[in-house]
Amino acid sequence: MLLSINAVTDKRGRLTHYVAISTDISHQKQTEQELKQLAYYDVLTSLPNRSLFKDRFEHEICLAQRNNTRLALFFLDLDHFKSVNDTLGHWAGDCLLQIIATRIQSCLRKTDTVARMGGDEFTIILPGLIGITDATELARNLIGVMTKPVQIKDYTVFVGVSIGIAIFPDDGNDFYTLTKHADTAMYAAKAKGRGLFQYYEAGMNEAAHQRLLLENALRLAIEQEEFQLYYQPKFDSALNRITGAEALIRWRRPGFGIIPPDRFIAIAEETALIIPLGQWILKTACLQAKVWANQLTGFRLAINLSPLQLLADDFIAVLDCILAETGTNPEWIELEVTEGLVMLDIEKATERLQQIRERGIHIAMDDFGTGYSSLSYLQKLPIQTLKIDKSFVQAYIDDPASNEAAFIKTIISLGQVLNMKVVAEGVETESQLALLQSYGCDEIQGYYLSPPLPADEFQRRWIDHGVVE
Ligand SMILES: [Mg+2]
Repeated sequence: MLLSINAVTDKRGRLTHYVAISTDISHQKQTEQELKQLAYYDVLTSLPNRSLFKDRFEHEICLAQRNNTRLALFFLDLDHFKSVNDTLGHWAGDCLLQIIATRIQSCLRKTDTVARMGGDEFTIILPGLIGITDATELARNLIGVMTKPVQIKDYTVFVGVSIGIAIFPDDGNDFYTLTKHADTAMYAAKAKGRGLFQYYEAGMNEAAHQRLLLENALRLAIEQEEFQLYYQPKFDSALNRITGAEALIRWRRPGFGIIPPDRFIAIAEETALIIPLGQWILKTACLQAKVWANQLTGFRLAINLSPLQLLADDFIAVLDCILAETGTNPEWIELEVTEGLVMLDIEKATERLQQIRERGIHIAMDDFGTGYSSLSYLQKLPIQTLKIDKSFVQAYIDDPASNEAAFIKTIISLGQVLNMKVVAEGVETESQLALLQSYGCDEIQGYYLSPPLPADEFQRRWIDHGVVE
């Protein structure tokens, strides 16, 4: 209640009355309470939110400094939460988060604080630590409790949790540093397998963290098809006509622009994400090959294959399926493999390449000259094309007597002896082009003639009026 009292006087100024006015402000108090709840607590789980967590954390740091104790910051992220949302719907995800919040609270002491940072991320402050064993015990308890099945209506759901732990003052002195480090440790825990906890270590540097972020972004990018193929034309040596093109992948990463393959293919290979990505590339390129081969006789589209993709058990089945599904004539495509593939497993690689060749698909050896190939296997492999590694071409600067020129000449001669077509890529200058023409290189690809282009631009520039100027 709000009470205001005013004095009332008579004509001579003597006090005669008081007037009291009282107002019921319950409603206003309730609104304030609700606003506070909204500002500092998470609506779904009623746990403290990030703002309140930060306040409490900073308060606990002061106490720890005064009492000379440590405190632990836990960063929790649920495993497989997304699949619950995706398969059962967001209502199930919400139920799950509420149940998980209760489970986390059941593991904590009164003095500990748990907050929901957003999504499926939770943080915990564990104050008053003497050693770090208390933190280890809690981490084990949390993992144990969280891996138990969760009942949501008629569904039994299994999730787990990955936990990263940062310790004050060992790993940092303020909220931002410690949360960042706990987050890094959490990603390291996830990378090791799920359902684990991990203390932050100084060795988990920013680069490792960025890498993990990239891996996760890549995983998402594959689900959401954030990729696009660009096409770089190949010309016959006299530049009379287009013989085909090479399909090159680009990642249109929201907020980061267009990312070239050298920034993500290695990670895709290490994480086996190259398999679904490679299938997408193969299918997309086949569809495009069909369009252009129908407009330009003899047009053949080159598609890069990762060794991992080619050696996968089901590669031939996948290939057949894609050819059938897209209605692609095997003559319209050429698969580019690298010397590294053959080095990995000669017998299996040879067998696969033969199976591919039996289907009428051309095979090119990419980046030729860098991989310590032996001539004895080169002649045994069912290869129709050698692509001179672009480092040889780019090293050539206008001196026909140089070593670089000799290398190029040797590879071209080798191709002629082995009855293979030789393609030079990475051609960027007029003198490089002239040298390759003088040695009788069969086909030319490079920025000097055309950069890789998106399909529609390629169509306009090289299919609709494909005249080399
Ligand atoms: Mg290539």
